[in-house]
Amino acid sequence: MRKRAMCLVARFAMLLAGTSVFAQIPGMNPPKHYPWSDRALSADQRADLVLKELTLDEKIQLLHGLGWQGLFMHPESGPGTRAISAGTFIPGFPRLGIPDLQMTDCVEGVSGVGSTGRYATALPSAETMAAAWDPALSYEIGAMIGHEVRAMGFNMSLGSGINMIREPRNGRTFEYKGEDPLLAGTLAGQELKAEKALHLITDLKHYAVNDQDAGRTTVNSVIGKRAMRETDLKAFEIALKDSGAGAIMCSYNRINGDYGCENSYTLTDVLKKDFGFQGFVVSDWGATESTVKAAMAGLDVEMPGSDSFGAPLKKAVESGEVPMARLDSMVHRVLRTMFDSGIIDDPPQPESPDVTRGFLVAQKTEERGAVLLRNASNVLPLSAASVKSIAVIGGHADAGVISGGGSSQVSPAGGNPVPPPPELMKNPLASFMLMETYHRSAPLKGIAEKAPHAVVKFDAGSDPSAAVALAKASQVAIVFAVQHESEGMDLPNLSLPDKQDALIEAVAAANPRTIVVLETGGPVLMPWIDKVAGVVEAWYPGIRGSEAIANLLFGDVNPSGKLPLTFPKSEADLPHPVHADPPKADAAHPAPKLPGFPGLIATAMVVSPWFDMVYDEGIEVGYRWYDAKKKPVLFPFGFGLSYTTFAYSGLTVTPGETTTVTFTVKNTGKRAGIETAQVYASLPASAGEPPNRLIGWTKVELAPGQSRQVTVPVSRDRLTIFDEGTDSWKLEPGEYTIRAGGSSRDLVLEKAVSFPR
Ligand code: BGC
Repeated sequence: MRKRAMCLVARFAMLLAGTSVFAQIPGMNPPKHYPWSDRALSADQRADLVLKELTLDEKIQLLHGLGWQGLFMHPESGPGTRAISAGTFIPGFPRLGIPDLQMTDCVEGVSGVGSTGRYATALPSAETMAAAWDPALSYEIGAMIGHEVRAMGFNMSLGSGINMIREPRNGRTFEYKGEDPLLAGTLAGQELKAEKALHLITDLKHYAVNDQDAGRTTVNSVIGKRAMRETDLKAFEIALKDSGAGAIMCSYNRINGDYGCENSYTLTDVLKKDFGFQGFVVSDWGATESTVKAAMAGLDVEMPGSDSFGAPLKKAVESGEVPMARLDSMVHRVLRTMFDSGIIDDPPQPESPDVTRGFLVAQKTEERGAVLLRNASNVLPLSAASVKSIAVIGGHADAGVISGGGSSQVSPAGGNPVPPPPELMKNPLASFMLMETYHRSAPLKGIAEKAPHAVVKFDAGSDPSAAVALAKASQVAIVFAVQHESEGMDLPNLSLPDKQDALIEAVAAANPRTIVVLETGGPVLMPWIDKVAGVVEAWYPGIRGSEAIANLLFGDVNPSGKLPLTFPKSEADLPHPVHADPPKADAAHPAPKLPGFPGLIATAMVVSPWFDMVYDEGIEVGYRWYDAKKKPVLFPFGFGLSYTTFAYSGLTVTPGETTTVTFTVKNTGKRAGIETAQVYASLPASAGEPPNRLIGWTKVELAPGQSRQVTVPVSRDRLTIFDEGTDSWKLEPGEYTIRAGGSSRDLVLEKAVSFPR
């Protein structure tokens, strides 16, 4: 008995010792009391007290990140150092109790930690999150991510991403939240608000108009001020306001001539002055192309991949080209964000991540974000009781679900179940962007478990005749079609790769009950759409993809996702039918020698001379383009079917500082379901706006036959336009048409209201 008690005491002591070891990770935790430890002081006051103690070298140190993900190891951030992950690290000042900044990418979960033996939840793609149109879910996602970020000891998260998808072939479409500023800004805002509540520094990226990844360091995004303010920058403005994000990551591209990280209009005039942003601007990795220009334009922190801050910044301060006051403002911004976020008062304590919670959130996100696009003759949901045989075809559905590549890639737990071809692995960029990574959540298994009395067989789809034979012999054929996207490259086109269209056509010809499950980063063309019975857009489904997809196919979950971006009928309908490929360098047009992007990445990405991408569609981005040009689309923004149906009635609109839009939604079908009821506005003609603008939405869960009156509040700023003449926002006087319905092209209710001058 005594022995056992001593054993327990010893164990307890070990536990305590263990805790204090973590608590004393160098640079992580202030062991002493300092003047700035006083929590009664404001973040600004505390930051100023620290600032006074710093030498010039220390100030410079705080503005310069080290290493890069294992691509470019830095001796101070490589293995065996105090950096948790190489490349996302800024050393703090242990002597002053100021922690290191330990950052991690986490757009879809904490990325790339597998190589250090850590586990992180692989969430569905950001586009899936957007398709749920659910601010409360985004908050839940942010809280889950935040817990895992902290559990691993990181104190700064590098997500979420915002981009208006001006180029849907962008290889990073899956990392963003759709083509509407209100939708993307609101959801990103909730996600980061939840992370901040857990005492993390949060970050929004990539600021701004970073719409293509091919040639991302040499492209110049040309865009009008009004268009930028009303769309791309509007999304950041909303997200910042809602989240209080601590950092903004400036992008690789140039915007109207100046690089994202040395653009005084976007960084200083808009972000710091108009938006009142008090956090710090951090460069994308390797995106700092100058020292003085960048510092004076508003960049505060340079991350690795370039060496424009560090020693060159010190020199510029000593020569007076960068005044000490500017340097102090940069340092102040970082320090005040550290205090404001809580990372100093409540530093992360490493622990095992809550895997169960991660699973729940991943599955819920997929179940809420998958979009039912077609359901001819109610082929779905499948009946587990009556279905006798199911052919599951293609997409490596026997092994897992695909994910997007690049810096947001969450390591596949247990390794990639679909090993890449050996010749690919010889390419040094394989693990970063070329490799197609699957998560071990096989839809075949989920489907087989749902239908224990059915014969469920798999065919890889590589030989269409074998797939056709299996489809013919089965009651139902489910084709999984995949499209890999990655950072660092764009898609060649919007078609499914690897002859998957032909496979779908062949299977559909063999079996009228063919259902296509798409695992894509963004929109794809569907030349076979009228020939298949069902289509589910499952996006990149994450670690619980199998369970979620099976629940949706068999009706345990009623689909409720709605498209956060338009699916065009053809690339000819895009604002830019031809993708702006980076031009080839030649003697007359050499590729620039950029200070950012040394070595490997330079070879892969800085291949072209500078080029312009003129976004002349301006405000007409996404659905606003198709509406303005009266183009038919394959599936409109906001579209998504359910296994039930909804009716809308009784619209009233009460204009005011906050306009209230009230109407009734009724579930007219036989199943319980969730509807995302959307509200759009047509502004007076004199405003010069596209026909429809999303101004609000609400989610309503209804039992069969149930109806509910809902109210959507619309703040004034959702109706204003940006006036370039006065550089300000104004509400155009005149008649506004307010519409409500189930998608941007199914607005069954409308009411005209006037706003006086
Ligand atoms: C990406 C960023 C990412 C950074 C750090 C860059 O290549 O563009 O989104 O945060 O790497 O991994």
